[in-house]
Amino acid sequence: MHEWAFAEGIIKTVEEEAIKNRFKKLSKIYIVMGELQGIDKDIVSFALENLKKGTIMEKAVFEFEDEEMEFECRNCGFVWKIDRNGDIDELIKESIHFVPEAAHSFISCPKCGSKDFEITKGRGVYISRIDGEL
Ligand SMILES: [Zn+2]
Repeated sequence: MHEWAFAEGIIKTVEEEAIKNRFKKLSKIYIVMGELQGIDKDIVSFALENLKKGTIMEKAVFEFEDEEMEFECRNCGFVWKIDRNGDIDELIKESIHFVPEAAHSFISCPKCGSKDFEITKGRGVYISRIDGEL
């Protein structure tokens, strides 16, 4: 399953970071997940709880943070987010989720109206911080 492979990737990355930072034991791991990432957080969380056994993060807690989509206009440089309570409906969000390029048919720069923009946030997953004992 995709989520398990994903969780394995997190464990491996955290282990490498722990070695690099000379941690002996980890207590907390912060994972940022973009909302456009098509991954089930509950399954990842379950997978991590299983995979962490016998590793340096056996006693660690995984903390997930959501990252909202953010856009940057290539024409005027304006950076914006989508208003959660307004201009975007779930269907559009779904479409962007599966085909990020679809964003260009639904969204344009609020400042200059250009459809030439980049999705700069909300697509990736990364470990933002690890806490532990040296
Ligand atoms: Zn613009």
